[in-house]
Amino acid sequence: MRQALVIANWKLNGDTALLKDMAEHFHHVDIQEQVNVVICPPAVYLKTAAVLFEPSGIELGGQNCSEYGSGAYTGEISAEMLRDIGCEYVLIGHSERRALFAETDEMVAGKIKQAQQCNLRPVLCVGETLAEREANAVESVIRGQLEKALGEADFNNLVIAYEPVWAIGTGKTATPEQAQEVHKMIRDWVASKAPESAQKLQILYGGSVKADNASTLFHQADIDGGLIGGASLDTEQFDAICQAA
Ligand code: 13P
Repeated sequence: MRQALVIANWKLNGDTALLKDMAEHFHHVDIQEQVNVVICPPAVYLKTAAVLFEPSGIELGGQNCSEYGSGAYTGEISAEMLRDIGCEYVLIGHSERRALFAETDEMVAGKIKQAQQCNLRPVLCVGETLAEREANAVESVIRGQLEKALGEADFNNLVIAYEPVWAIGTGKTATPEQAQEVHKMIRDWVASKAPESAQKLQILYGGSVKADNASTLFHQADIDGGLIGGASLDTEQFDAICQAA
């Protein structure tokens, strides 16, 4: 049985007050047995988060890392640095980074490599746009993203998140059946590359997950938890989503 995993992606949101509120709340809620919870706040808050969340067992992740290890790359944060301040995870290839910050598949592959070399667990984000779904190209788009990102990857130190672009921040969630179909396709693809890893690999769903739709999504056979945006900024709602996993 795969352990459930719920990851909060705060994106460009949150502050010290929210970190404190969440740390205080989760200190009193013991959910780590049934689900691993990870928070990815903006990078400037990671160090504070590491201290505040220590007693709760909640783990931390970066929202991005550099494809470079070190050097003259102003503004970048390396996988090693994330690891150094206590992160266990890093989101890689989120659709917002691909679309708004021109992140290419090659860059995504480089970041996965950097993360794995530093023993940081990459959460590779894949997903199709609405136009691609309407053109019946879901499978080819997702397979293409997987092939290009994971050519040299270690499948034993990896999480994959399926986030249909049309469901992110729109209030439109994929139906549990639509999501399950893609998750199964992803797992089958992994099985074709690394048969011994496929059943262990956690595959998360992301895109307008809320407290009231989390449970049905998370109970699909190949959905092992969620990558939560907007709803992860509300402590009670995020807790309810974690409880649903
Ligand atoms: P929302 O939950 O706000 O739709 O965002 C999903 C997401 O992009 C998480 O990475």
